[in-house]
Amino acid sequence: MEIDLDTEYASRDEIYALQSRELRELVMRCWEHVPFYRRIWEKAGITPADIKEASDIKKLPFVTKQDIIDNIAEYPPFGDFQGGYNSVRIQTSTGSTGMPKPIFHTMSDWDNIALLWKRRFRTQGIKEGDIAQVAFAYTLFIVGFSATEGLMRAGALVIPAGSGAVTSSERQLEIARNWGTTVFCCTGSYMLHLANVAEQAGMDPGKDFKIRISIHAAEPLTESMRREIQSRWHCKTYDTYGSVETSAPMYECQFQNGHHINEDAYIYEILNPETGEEAMPGEDGEVVATTLFKEAAPLVRYKIGDIAGFLPGNCQCGSNFVRMSKVKGRIDEMMKVKGVGLYPTDFEAALKKFQVFGSEYLIVINRENSQDTVKLRVEYTGDNEATDFYKQDLIRELRSKLGLGCEVELLPKGALDKELNVEERIKYKRVLDLRKKED
Ligand SMILES: [Zn+2]
Repeated sequence: MEIDLDTEYASRDEIYALQSRELRELVMRCWEHVPFYRRIWEKAGITPADIKEASDIKKLPFVTKQDIIDNIAEYPPFGDFQGGYNSVRIQTSTGSTGMPKPIFHTMSDWDNIALLWKRRFRTQGIKEGDIAQVAFAYTLFIVGFSATEGLMRAGALVIPAGSGAVTSSERQLEIARNWGTTVFCCTGSYMLHLANVAEQAGMDPGKDFKIRISIHAAEPLTESMRREIQSRWHCKTYDTYGSVETSAPMYECQFQNGHHINEDAYIYEILNPETGEEAMPGEDGEVVATTLFKEAAPLVRYKIGDIAGFLPGNCQCGSNFVRMSKVKGRIDEMMKVKGVGLYPTDFEAALKKFQVFGSEYLIVINRENSQDTVKLRVEYTGDNEATDFYKQDLIRELRSKLGLGCEVELLPKGALDKELNVEERIKYKRVLDLRKKED
C-alpha cells in the first residue's frame, strides 16, 4: 500500500472502510508471513476469516513488550515477529536495560514512514524554501532519519547536523545563523540549552536567528518547556509522539490540540487500565497500537504502556482524523509511593503554576527508616531569596496535587542540564527510584 496524504479529509465512513480493508490485509499478511502472530492467533482459535471489518480487531489477542522480548530470545538474534519480508533496514528502540529491540523495515515501510512525516510537516506549514537543521542523533534510534526523510519530501533543504555530541552547540548555532536555518529539530531540552549557549555568547535567540518552527521528539515536551522555547526563540514549537516500533503514528496540527492519529496507517485503542475493556469516550487509559501499513515487524494490538485518551469533537484544521491527548504517563512510570500512584505529569502540573522554576526536573524516590520519601529537584531561574518564598508555595501545591508530602531541592540554572547530560541524551527518565536497590 502507499499512503494518500489527503485521506485525513475523507469522511469518517470512508476512513472506516479503508481501515477495514487494511486490517483484513494486515491479518492475512501476518498469517502468511509472520509466524509470531500465526502462533498466537491459532492458540486463540482465530483465523483471517474472523476479521471482516475494523471493529473485529477486538477479537485479536493483545501483544506486550515482554512478548516481543521473549520472541527475540526464542528466535535469536532478531525474533520471528519481524516476518519473512525482504527487509532493508534495522532501527532499534532505546531499551533502558539490556540489548535494544531491533525493528525491521522493508523499502515500502520506509517510504510510508517518510510520507507520514511529510503529512505532518505539510500540516505544520513546512515547505519549499525552508532550511531545516536536524540536531537529533543519527543512530540506531529512528527519529533523526525519519524526520530527515519527511523534511526532504516536504521540500525543505535539510542540514543533517546530528546531535551536540557530533556537532558542538557553538557550531550548531554558527550554522543556524550563517545558513539561515528556519526549522530546527532536536530534543526540547537541547533547544533550551542552545538558547543558553547563544545568550552566553552575546546573541539573542529571538532576534539573531530566523528559526520560525521547532520540532521536538524523543523526550516528553512539557507545556512549560513549549512556552519557554517559543518565547525565547520567537518560533512555533511542535511536539512528537511515536516510537521506533510504531514509527509515525500521529502529529500535532497548527491548533496543537492533541495529536491527530494517522488513521489510514494505524488503529489506536484506549483500554480502561482497571478492567482491560475499551475505555469510555474521553476517559484516559492504556494505549494499544496496530500498524496497518507495516510489512516487517508489524504491531497488532500492541500495548505500548502509555496512558492517554481520545479527544472528543472536530478539529478546526479540517482533518477528520481522531485526536489523542498528550500522554499522561507510562504504566511503568507510575510510582507507588506510600500506596499512592503518581505520574511525572502530576509534578509537571504543579510546576506549571510558577514562572520562577526551570523546565528541567528530577523526581527522586527513596526509603528512609522504612518510609518512602519523595524529593523534587528543580532549577530556579530567579534570585535565590525570592525563590525560597515560591519553594514553600510549590511544596504546598505538590501536597495538594499528589496527596502526600514532597521535599523540594532548588538548584542553580543549568545544574540539571549538566547532570542529565542534555547535550548528548536521546531519552531520559524523570524519575530516579533509589528504593529498588534495597529490594
Ligand atoms: Zn487539527
